[in-house]
Amino acid sequence: MRKLEGKIALVTGGNSGIGLATAKQFVAEGAYVFITGRRQTELDAAVENIGKNVTGIQSDVSKLEDLDRVFDKIKQEQGHLDVVFANAGIGEIAPLGAITEEHFDKIFNINVKGLLFTVQKALPLLPENASIILNASTASTVGTPAFSVYSATKAAVRSFARNWILDLKERKIRVNAISPGVVPTPGYNLLGLNDEQVQEFVDSQAVTIPLGRVGTPDEIARAVVFLASEDSSFVNGIELFVDGGMAQI
Ligand code: NAD
Repeated sequence: MRKLEGKIALVTGGNSGIGLATAKQFVAEGAYVFITGRRQTELDAAVENIGKNVTGIQSDVSKLEDLDRVFDKIKQEQGHLDVVFANAGIGEIAPLGAITEEHFDKIFNINVKGLLFTVQKALPLLPENASIILNASTASTVGTPAFSVYSATKAAVRSFARNWILDLKERKIRVNAISPGVVPTPGYNLLGLNDEQVQEFVDSQAVTIPLGRVGTPDEIARAVVFLASEDSSFVNGIELFVDGGMAQI
């Protein structure tokens, strides 16, 4: 028996990195998956890559009207949602002293506002025993130079899980946060680093990680499958670190 047989799932930011790896594993475990992303070309490529049991919906999580379109389509096509992986997120580098209002608004609008309204607008479609997984980060507990705004958004995300399990108590919907450590994805290039700088960063991080290496999107996806499935039926409100031990020392 596959772990998500017959389940309907949404992965925001499902066209790249951790989201794409998770969407693939959800489908392999028997789910039908909706993925979102801002760019139609990347979304189409991801749908083709996943191959079956997937629908792409072009949308920006920070735009509430886009989210309405996403949930209207899911309602029309499947009628409900069993799993929400609120994964879409971005990072940008800016040290204190050089933080602009634009930087702050952009990162908070996507990582916090977008995630909050993704979950809130999903609620009417969620049955009892649905599972919500929020993509946080080790960055919320470990300091990182020039990354304070991003890290603060992830602290907010972790906090949402603690509070929402109380708001959703009557409905028996589980909410958990997952905190990946260092996991190279296309998102690293979007930070403004070239391939060589990404490799330098990865090498410098690997030696600080107890397992001696960085992680892969597939390793994060397997942990998300666990939180999405009945295997984690009594796991609620946690922050599951998938970081090779980096934030535990
Ligand atoms: P990525 O850039 O490969 O993927 C990010 C995804 O989010 C893409 O699909 C992108 O289209 C989507 N996205 C970004 N802004 C969006 C918006 N406004 N609306 C809709 N979709 C949007 O990066 P990734 O590393 O796979 O990141 C995925 C999540 O994992 C993020 O929330 C990130 O903060 C978190 N995370 C990543 C790491 C890591 O090391 N890679 C570590 C901790 C947490």
